[in-house]
Amino acid sequence: MNNPQQSDWFHGDSSQPDNLSASEKYLMLVNHMQQGFCIIEVLFDETGQPLDYRFLEVNPVFEQQTGLVDPVGKTMRELQPAHEQHWFDTYAQVVKTGQPIHFENQAAHLAGGVWYEVFAFPFGPATNHQVAILFDDITARKKAEAALRASQKQQTYLLKLADTLRMYADQPNMPTIACQLLAQELGAIRVNYAEVKTNTYVVEHEYHSAGLSSMIGQYAISSFRPNEQTAFKAGRTVVISDIEAEANVTDEQVAAYADLNVRAFISVPLLRHGKLVVVLSAIREQPGPWQPEEISLVEETAERTWTAHERARAEETLRASEQKYRTLFDSIDEGFHISELIYDQAGQPVDYRFLEVNPVFEWQTGLQNTVGRLSSEIAPNVESYWLQAYHQVVQTGQPIRIENYNQATDRWYTAYTSRVGGADNRQFVVVFDDITERKQAQEALRHSEEQFRMLVTASSDIVYRMNPDWTQLHRLIGTTFPADIQDSNATWLQTYIPAEDQPQIQQLIQEAIRTRTPFELEHRIMRADGTIGWMFSRAIPMLDEQGTIQSWLGASSDITARKQAEEVLQESNRRKDEFLAMLGHELRNPLATVSNLLLVLELTDGTDENLSYPKAVRLMSREVRYMTRMVDDLLDVGRIRYGLIQLHKQPIDLVTLVRQTVEVAQPLYEQQQRQLSLALPPYSLVMQGDETRLKQVLMNLLTNGLKYTQPAGHVWVSLELADNSALSKQALLRMKDDGIGIAADRQEAIFDIFVQGETTLDRPQGGLGLGLAVVKQLVALHDGSIEVRSEGPGQGSEFLIRLPLTLEVSGSVTTGPSISSSAKSKGRVLVVDDNQTLADMTARLVELSGYEAQTSYSGADALLVAQQWRPDMMLLDLGMPHMDGFEVKRRLTEQPWGNTISVIALTGYGQEPLKAQTDQAGFAAYLLKPLNLLRLRELLRAIMPPGNSDS
Ligand code: ADP
Repeated sequence: MNNPQQSDWFHGDSSQPDNLSASEKYLMLVNHMQQGFCIIEVLFDETGQPLDYRFLEVNPVFEQQTGLVDPVGKTMRELQPAHEQHWFDTYAQVVKTGQPIHFENQAAHLAGGVWYEVFAFPFGPATNHQVAILFDDITARKKAEAALRASQKQQTYLLKLADTLRMYADQPNMPTIACQLLAQELGAIRVNYAEVKTNTYVVEHEYHSAGLSSMIGQYAISSFRPNEQTAFKAGRTVVISDIEAEANVTDEQVAAYADLNVRAFISVPLLRHGKLVVVLSAIREQPGPWQPEEISLVEETAERTWTAHERARAEETLRASEQKYRTLFDSIDEGFHISELIYDQAGQPVDYRFLEVNPVFEWQTGLQNTVGRLSSEIAPNVESYWLQAYHQVVQTGQPIRIENYNQATDRWYTAYTSRVGGADNRQFVVVFDDITERKQAQEALRHSEEQFRMLVTASSDIVYRMNPDWTQLHRLIGTTFPADIQDSNATWLQTYIPAEDQPQIQQLIQEAIRTRTPFELEHRIMRADGTIGWMFSRAIPMLDEQGTIQSWLGASSDITARKQAEEVLQESNRRKDEFLAMLGHELRNPLATVSNLLLVLELTDGTDENLSYPKAVRLMSREVRYMTRMVDDLLDVGRIRYGLIQLHKQPIDLVTLVRQTVEVAQPLYEQQQRQLSLALPPYSLVMQGDETRLKQVLMNLLTNGLKYTQPAGHVWVSLELADNSALSKQALLRMKDDGIGIAADRQEAIFDIFVQGETTLDRPQGGLGLGLAVVKQLVALHDGSIEVRSEGPGQGSEFLIRLPLTLEVSGSVTTGPSISSSAKSKGRVLVVDDNQTLADMTARLVELSGYEAQTSYSGADALLVAQQWRPDMMLLDLGMPHMDGFEVKRRLTEQPWGNTISVIALTGYGQEPLKAQTDQAGFAAYLLKPLNLLRLRELLRAIMPPGNSDS
């Protein structure tokens, strides 16, 4: 209620201050001052309790500072019913005490909660209950003071937090402690520290006040409200002062929050490198606004706790890894050291210092107390390659592996070296291992491999290795025939194997690969010299643990010589078989003839008209002669083969020998309508020779001349002096015919044993293919040679025999007796043989040769007959029962008349030792059974020459 009087006074004219009254001056002061001013009347009830107060006067600032409009005449409770009671009490106290009062207080409901500094004093007499109030709005100062207080509190808290975090740095529950601290500071009922792990919040650390359930556990991010999720992802703090007042919150969410006693909260997300790592939440049970300093407190706590926790974790990881490496270095089997290279002034590495070593280092090197010392102090003269290697590593930063020897320890090492740190660092790490044993084992292996190789190369000519499918040949080490290769050779098949053999070899190889069994084959091979040889090859598959072929190891030997020998052997076997078949055939014919003739004689008592006795004898002796010659040849072949032929050489005149032999053959030629011409030089050609054997040679060729010419064919024999120098004289005997001739490719072979021109069994000429072989050998035994010439089949043949002559012609040349079928009986011959038929027949032969003959069928009888009849010559069988030939001869020698008898030994065995024995026993000569008539006649003549018929 306005009092116009008072108001006028209060708002009085102030234009003339000097003339103003005291009250005017006071009013002016009040109206112009910056403080608020009012006069109130405190209203009491009957008991003296203050009820209210009424504004009596206010100045202009009053309304500004209180926000109360037009207050004069109104009471405070009318204007602001919520005004705090203490205001009324305070002003009542001023009235009652009459004492002024100065204080500061807040009026929460005035002008948005203003703080005032107030000076109140009694105005006028105590009975009118008036109080003058001078006041000032000190809200700004109060806020500043509060902020200061809050920041001091925050600082204290943060210091405490820092101390705590530091104190619990190595404790895994550090965030739990931080949660506790924060809850205390904020008066929160819960604080959660949730780490974010792949779309899940993992709460491992929390604080909750007593009686509440724990929130430890995992929560899907999706279980949070979308606006919270978005804020967290963006790193924005979420501040909720009352969850129930939030928009977008469901009833279930409210219920869920209520379950956990959550009503207001601050959640601070932390991003690292754009990723959410942790959310720290402080929770209150009651709704209410969060102060900025509270929010920043939670933010600070989140930041600091996470950082400290991360650091602790990193330190722990580092410590663990260091521990791990320390354990590793201490427990590895390899030696290990960290050292520092030392350079001289020229920048050359000269030494190194050990900085750290592991236990194995000492154990492997045997070096003690190395740390801090120079390598040169511990082991002088370390090989320069180690130093150079370390230098290289330090220079380039590139790790290297070295395998080398160290003399100081007399061991081999493999060492892995790398630089420690950056480019300007001279430290290096060496991890090394003693490989001496491995080296020794390798060496032993190499040695044994070498030995094995030597062994293999000693026993075979080639060693090779093949890849599993035999497409590559590796390292063919050959001592001989195929060219060596060093590189793998994919064309080995074409290089070494003749084209026509390749399919077979390929097939066998595939079979060996399939069955994983050794490959073994004798096969042909192209030799380095271009010829084709034979090889025996064996390769073994090298299998791994799974049984897969890793390679093939092979060895081969040159078996060319053996193969050739086998071929020769096969060929000669074949020939021998042929020969035996032929021999049977050849013997059967004459045998059949003889037995037929004998049958005829026996049936007719020799009176058959068509077969006179002489004719039968002639025919039979022809067959026997033929068989004898075959047997002789056979025996000769055997003797020649085994070197048993001994020549009885003496000077002979070849001219005479040729003439005599041709004379013997002449009748045969005439019989078979062949012409035999002879051309001899007018002088003697003397050589050292075995007369019998040389005649055999000639006779053989003459017989072939008969066999291999047609009827009316011609054989020319000539002898000449072919070579006549001071140093050598040579006779050349030619036998030329116009017969069937010999193909060029056969000319060499005909001198081989069992070789004949034709191989059919039905051969008109007969023969065993031995003759020329014997001839060739006999000529060779006389140091001569034989060759054949023929223009080919049907062109005739010519045999040329060259024989060495003696340089000086001796006077005592055996000319031999000339043969004559018309010789008269010129001496007596006693034929002794237990085979009566043979004895009789031989006696008959002797008679037919013009001598007298008698027979004895036992040794004793022979001695009797000899004593009475006194023969000139005795043909004495050696192998007789009761008294053998040697005994007869011995007894004869004891008789004075016995020595005049020339005793000739007869034997069917034909062995050379017997001959020697007979020589020794004083036999004049030695004859083989069956008798060779020619030889017999020669002997008869030699012993009883025709001129001595009277003796
Ligand atoms: P054989 O006459 O018993 O068969 P040889 O050793 O005397 O045995 O002769 C070997 C082969 O030489 C004969 O089979 C024949 O083919 C050939 N031969 C020998 N002499 C002559 C020749 N004068 N004319 C043609 N071929 C001959």
